[in-house]
Amino acid sequence: MAQVELRDVVKKFGSTQVVHGTNLTIEDNEFIVLVGPSGCGKSTILRMIAGLESVSGGEIRIADKPINEVDPVDRNVAMVFQNYALYPHMTVFDNMAFSLKMAGDSKQEILRKVNEAAEILELSPYLNRKPAELSGGQRQRVAMGRAIVRQPSVFLFDEPLSNLDAQLRTQMRMELKKLHLKMKTTTIYVTHDQVEAMTLADKIVILKDGFIQQVGSPVEVFERPANRFVAGFIGNPP
Ligand code: ADP
Ligand code: MG
Repeated sequence: MAQVELRDVVKKFGSTQVVHGTNLTIEDNEFIVLVGPSGCGKSTILRMIAGLESVSGGEIRIADKPINEVDPVDRNVAMVFQNYALYPHMTVFDNMAFSLKMAGDSKQEILRKVNEAAEILELSPYLNRKPAELSGGQRQRVAMGRAIVRQPSVFLFDEPLSNLDAQLRTQMRMELKKLHLKMKTTTIYVTHDQVEAMTLADKIVILKDGFIQQVGSPVEVFERPANRFVAGFIGNPP
């Protein structure tokens, strides 16, 4: 089943159109990466899927329902940003438990969900620490933990690794891949980094100036780029 579907989606800011009639289907369990140069509309598309930004035309459907007909509480979409902010005065446990408390989960449920997420992310030894007592990679894992505990049906990632150094970025890529193999959650991941896109994606969507240039597997876009832009961007010029 298609988890997320974009039908002729258009976005305008004032009179400037930044997303031009985008059509895209994201299947259950798929890890899809939107990649393209800065300013091409990646974050805008993600924010529309998250319901943080309205569409100017067309339609977004989640689990086969128009997004505006789904109650935000039932939407079950979790987003991890580049500039994730952890609550500095709270422990790792409380950072991850926060949204569950807000949702009114019982103490028992919260304990179960946070421990489960901590296990998956290898954060169990750190649950009582404050963010300042963690490494950059551990902090980023806590940010993911906050999304995981809600057991969303769709993960949205907006350049979650851009603030990390190169070594950590490579390590976190592997961890993200592992996480997806374990949880199988449908994921839409945004990056401007071609290598990251090629490593992580089941399916790559290449964007330029608000237009989709090509959709395909990493091998397909590398071996059979749809145009010069894709060839140059992915690094296999004709
Ligand atoms: P990306 O994430 O690919 O770098 P964005 O989706 O952030 O690109 O931006 C796409 C285009 O939309 C850019 O030209 C940007 O300046 C413009 N834009 C994004 N958000 C707004 C906004 N709130 N108001 C006006 N223009 C915006
Ligand atoms: Mg962006």
